[in-house]
Amino acid sequence: ILEGKVALVTGSTSGIGLAIARAFAAEGASLMINGFGDTQEIERVKSELGAVHDGADMSDPAAIERMMRRCADELGGPDILVNNAGIQHVAPIDSFPPEKWDAIIAINLSAVFHTTRHALPAMKAKGWGRVINTASAHSLVASPNKSAYVAAKHGVAGFTKTAALEVAREGVTVNCISPGYVWTTLVENQIPDTMKARGLTREQVMNDVLLAAQPTKQFVTPEQVAALAVFLCRDEAASITGTNISMDGGWTAA
Ligand code: NAD
Repeated sequence: ILEGKVALVTGSTSGIGLAIARAFAAEGASLMINGFGDTQEIERVKSELGAVHDGADMSDPAAIERMMRRCADELGGPDILVNNAGIQHVAPIDSFPPEKWDAIIAINLSAVFHTTRHALPAMKAKGWGRVINTASAHSLVASPNKSAYVAAKHGVAGFTKTAALEVAREGVTVNCISPGYVWTTLVENQIPDTMKARGLTREQVMNDVLLAAQPTKQFVTPEQVAALAVFLCRDEAASITGTNISMDGGWTAA
């Protein structure tokens, strides 16, 4: 269903972004992937998906602009923009490193503004476009020790609504997907910090902290998030805009 469409997925060298890139490729989209990682592994993903890779650092607005220009020049897109790159840091506010705050706001929030502002003119000109932001259950509710992340994700949800209103008559939809805990390296990497911050064992963090919030007691899978992203690209999803769609095993229902 995505033949002839160009998709750019930020942070797609692992986790949710990679699953979204794979799902789009399976539907026939041309892809630009982005993100850090082992060069050989990135080469493998590029050839698997027939994708172009741009290593732009999402904390650098000039690098984002170069990536967006390259996507336009080399692929003629994006028709579909997925703002997915994100990082996390877990610490109480009074010992939260200011440089981590700045990095999280830059990568998880400001990058969404920068990619979107560069992508919208061509989408409007074509009369078709999809912007899909990976927000989080933390765009709706908070958890202690995640001040920057929660602030950034609430920001993404607000930005999504504003952008959707601005392009509502142009054939462009803007939505966010808000997963609960998805089993990726981002979640795995925050286990040691949460163990330290709360004085817990690994098992306690997994069961009493992470899945404590998720009534299904199951991690969301990257493939489930990707399937929703594909649905949002369908013509049948043309009236879904400005929404924040939860996929959190019931977390935010509680
Ligand atoms: P991940 O760590 O597996 O992937 C993050 C991706 O972002 C990687 O490709 C990484 O290289 C890239 N990235 C990191 N910093 C970057 C930078 N400065 N510039 C460019 N790329 C950069 O994590 P994930 O769990 O797949 O997370 C993807 C998104 O999903 C994030 O926005 C995250 O906040 C969100 N999310 C994750 C969960 C979860 O439980 N895993 C839940 C809700 C939301």
